[in-house]
Amino acid sequence: MLVVDDSQSALSFLRRLLVRHNYKVLTANSGSKALEQLKANPDIKLVITDKEMPNMNGLELCNEIRAIHNKDEISIIGISGADNPSLTAKFIKNGANDFLKKPFCPEEFYCRVQQNIEYIENIETITRQANTDFLTALYNRRYFFESLAHLVKSKENQTLAMLDIDFFKSINDNYGHEVGDVVLKEVSSLLAKHFSGQLVARLGGEEFSVHFGSMPIDEAEDLLEDLRLELAAMSINANGQNVSCTISIGLTCGVFASLDQLINRADELLYEAKDTGRNRIVANQ
Ligand code: GH3
Ligand code: MG
Ligand code: MG
Ligand code: MG
Repeated sequence: MLVVDDSQSALSFLRRLLVRHNYKVLTANSGSKALEQLKANPDIKLVITDKEMPNMNGLELCNEIRAIHNKDEISIIGISGADNPSLTAKFIKNGANDFLKKPFCPEEFYCRVQQNIEYIENIETITRQANTDFLTALYNRRYFFESLAHLVKSKENQTLAMLDIDFFKSINDNYGHEVGDVVLKEVSSLLAKHFSGQLVARLGGEEFSVHFGSMPIDEAEDLLEDLRLELAAMSINANGQNVSCTISIGLTCGVFASLDQLINRADELLYEAKDTGRNRIVANQ
C-alpha cells in the first residue's frame, strides 16, 4: 500500500502503525510522487492520503488516480484533520472509498485498512473466477472472446490455433470421467507451459485455443509442433492408470472481418486435421 502525506512525522506515524500489522508500505510526500510510485508499483491495492498538501491536495490526487484506476483496482482512504463536516462527501465524490478524521484511534484505522483491502481482494477473486475455467484454471471462453474481439478489428494479422483432443470420448468410456478430467488438467498444464507468452483458453469440453498475436504462422507452427510431440510421447498417470492421448490442431493467420470468422477458419483447418488422420497440425492462411 502507499501512504501519502506532506508531513514527514505523519508519514512515519502511519508507516509504523501499518508495519506493525505486517503490511508492505511505500510512502510519498507529495501527490506527484504518489502518482510516480503507483506507476512503478502496479501491485499497490490501497492508497491512504492526507487532504492538506501543497501543489496537489488529497482530493486532486484522488481524481488523478481515478483517471487511471477504478475502484475495483485500487482503494483510497482520505485522511484529514480539518474540522469540515462536508469533507467525507468531498473525498468520496472525488473517488475515495473511505475517509478518516484525525486524530483517529489505531483500532478504527486498522479496521478500515483491512476492510478496504478485503474489498479489492474479493473483486480480484470474483474476476478470476469469472474469467477462468474451474477444472483447468485456463482462461475461459468468455474471457477469450472479450479480450480478442477488439484485436481482430485492428486490421493486423492475427494468428490463431484451435486444438481438440483426439478420441477423448473413448478415454472417458474406457477409464471413466474422473480420469478424463485428469487428462484435461494435464493437457491444460502442458498448454500453459508451452504458451506462457500467449493467450490460451479452454473454449469448452476438450477444445482449446491459442492466440499468437501477429506471430508469423511458421513460428507458431513450430511452437505447436513441440507441444503436439510432447503430448503424444507423454504418459499421463491418472488414478493409477497410464493414459496417453494426442491432439489435432488447426492453425491460421490473416486479417479477418470478425473474431467469429477467424475462429471458423481455424476450426475448418482443425477438422481437416481430424479428417486426414488426427495427431497433426493443418496450417493455412
Ligand atoms: P474427436 O477426435 O473427433 O475429437 O473425438 P472425441 O471423442 O474427442 O470428440 P467428441 O466430441 O465425440 O467427444 C468429446 C467428449 O468430451 C464428450 C464429452 O463427454 C467429453 N467431455 C466434455 N467436457 C468434459 C469434461 O469436463 N470432463 C470429462 N471427463 N469429459 C468431458
Ligand atoms: Mg498535510
Ligand atoms: Mg475431440
Ligand atoms: Mg471436440
